[in-house]
Amino acid sequence: MSLQIQMIGTGSAFSKKYYNNNALVTYNGFVLLIDCGATAPRALHELNIQIDSIDGLLITHIHADHVGGLEEFAFRFKYGYKKKMKLFVPSRVLESLWNHSLRGGLENKAEGFTSLHDYFEVVPLEEGSPSEISPGFIIETIRSEHIPDKPSYSVLLNNHVFYSADTQFNPTLLTNLYDRHRCKYILHDCQFSSPGFVHASLEELLTLPRHIQSSVFLMHYDDTMEQYIGKTGDMTFIEQHKCYEFE
Ligand SMILES: [Zn+2]
Ligand SMILES: [Zn+2]
Repeated sequence: MSLQIQMIGTGSAFSKKYYNNNALVTYNGFVLLIDCGATAPRALHELNIQIDSIDGLLITHIHADHVGGLEEFAFRFKYGYKKKMKLFVPSRVLESLWNHSLRGGLENKAEGFTSLHDYFEVVPLEEGSPSEISPGFIIETIRSEHIPDKPSYSVLLNNHVFYSADTQFNPTLLTNLYDRHRCKYILHDCQFSSPGFVHASLEELLTLPRHIQSSVFLMHYDDTMEQYIGKTGDMTFIEQHKCYEFE
């Protein structure tokens, strides 16, 4: 059975043309949204996807293009659908997700809502430890270097699709994934200007061996993306809203 991935957005944090880089991943009937940025509710609305058709959310780190839509999800599930959605979060991100990101809007002491658990069914994830989130659907979080001292994670889906989320270039990891795990698809964030600092730059990604490049789909890109079509070696841009099957 193949994994289906539909990017509800493919834009960089400041893109105005593309929605935030968030992915809807479906396997064996289970629908997982990887990251829920500020533009996620609107992107889903445009795609005519009801948020209660999503079975779980996975958060990679607490930048607004990855968590900015969570407050709306929390309120709509609590007061609209009156149920808790599964929220998969790397354990090292949990505390800051509440205290540094969501608490301002969601804390309501009068009602007794004082933690993430009052809104979501929280499932902590340990790095390097695969979790079967539904029958046959296995996710593994891999620590990535994005911003110093801010925990950020990439995700390995069913052992064959690597999803970088936001990370600096790490050719050793990509080569290992490809060679040892036979990871067949690499969805990677890509910044056009160099050096990348907090993201992999296109120039850096172009140093990957060509056989690995041919497995790479570029995402999290700026509004100038079209100028780079044909200039990405053997790598291709993933398009937002299009459905892809990864066998
Ligand atoms: Zn981002
Ligand atoms: Zn980020």
